[in-house]
Amino acid sequence: MSNLELTRLRGFQDSLGADARAMSLVEEQARTIFERYSIKEIRIPVLERTQLYVRSSGETSDIVEKQMYSFTDRDEGETVVALRPEGTPGVVRAYVEAGLDRTDPEQRLFYSGPMFRRERPQKGRYRQFYQFGVEIFGRPDAACDAELLIMIDELCRDLKLPFTMEINSIGDNKCRPAFREALVAWGRAHWDELDDDCHNRLDRNPLRILDCKKDAKVTESAPNSLDYLCDECRAHFDTVKELLSAAGVAYVVNPRMVRGLDYYTRTAFEVMAGGLGAQSTVVAGGRYDGLVEAMGGAAVAGIGFAIGVDRLALALQAAGVTPNVGPDAAIIAMGPAATRLAVVVARDLRAAKLNVEMLSPEKKMKSLLARASKIGARIAVIIGDDELARGVVQLRDLKQSTQREVAVADAARVIADATTEI
Ligand code: ATP
Ligand code: MG
Repeated sequence: MSNLELTRLRGFQDSLGADARAMSLVEEQARTIFERYSIKEIRIPVLERTQLYVRSSGETSDIVEKQMYSFTDRDEGETVVALRPEGTPGVVRAYVEAGLDRTDPEQRLFYSGPMFRRERPQKGRYRQFYQFGVEIFGRPDAACDAELLIMIDELCRDLKLPFTMEINSIGDNKCRPAFREALVAWGRAHWDELDDDCHNRLDRNPLRILDCKKDAKVTESAPNSLDYLCDECRAHFDTVKELLSAAGVAYVVNPRMVRGLDYYTRTAFEVMAGGLGAQSTVVAGGRYDGLVEAMGGAAVAGIGFAIGVDRLALALQAAGVTPNVGPDAAIIAMGPAATRLAVVVARDLRAAKLNVEMLSPEKKMKSLLARASKIGARIAVIIGDDELARGVVQLRDLKQSTQREVAVADAARVIADATTEI
């Protein structure tokens, strides 16, 4: 673009064609599956008080420390507001603000939409990205954890995504302090092998040392969260695993996977997919039994996860499992009389749930056939004066270059049946 001042911002993307299609495929499939699991939609604001995120994500989180788009609004109170970096805080706020924590605590909610984080852009990491997330309140039981994981497994399978599911338990307020102490002690003993980032984490947020993805080798000898679980947390984790196995869900236990914040408890999980380089996590979530209370609500259990829609879409494209974006049929009508039949044929095809694009009747056949191929149409439906007179259309398979004549009344059925060729 000649005028640099009008180009998009770094880390912000335009999605078109197959890229946009892959994202909406993920969103449509997620919506379908969430409804299948009786999870209801909640719509929350994109702009909230910055304090909401400070309170819920914690001062030491990457999001609050360095990634938020936060600014002072020009209202009387000069409210400090932020573009939402994640969905959970807003959903918890809405849940408490509606009084549901007291009146009707068991809720199954999903949200979707753009999130904003000012981080270094790279493949699969943007400053505006999309999430589809679920939060379940009032269900402290392990069966709930398992059901969410079974649902995520189903979603990934339905999308034909090659993936791995990793799970862990990080304990609770009773048993995690001992694990944390052990990590601090380990960190002090291995101080020289850790980088500055991890030195900071050791003081401020020791669990996150294990998150140090760069230092995967170094942390191999670090304490294992599973060795510190109390009896209740162990029983909870065992039940989750048992139910996953009963449902035929494949998973890997990864005792290195942690969550940095105090309100996270017990089950943590991630789904990884290939083709994304370092950004392989496409779904992340876990139990947060302390969050609602920490946000000023009643002591209600919670568990949730977020799908990184952009990353999942990239992973699907890398795996080559996204459908063609082209229409099933492109309609080519030669002349005004044929166009009158063409609009009727187009309506019939669309009524049969076929995707149809009517091409301009004011161009030559050769350029229209080229256009039909270019947009990725499977079949060209050709209607000229001769076809009009005989009540037929020509169906041309644009991949195989085969052609056949069918009665107007049969066109929709033949196209719908012709999954591979005419
Ligand atoms: P990461 O370790 O990759 O930074 P995160 O822990 O910050 O991830 P979450 O806050 O758990 O990520 O968000 C859930 C999912 O949202 C991630 O697994 C990822 O798929 C997606 N996601 C997070 N940040 C971005 C981003 N900047 N761009 C694109 N997708 C993102
Ligand atoms: Mg991040």
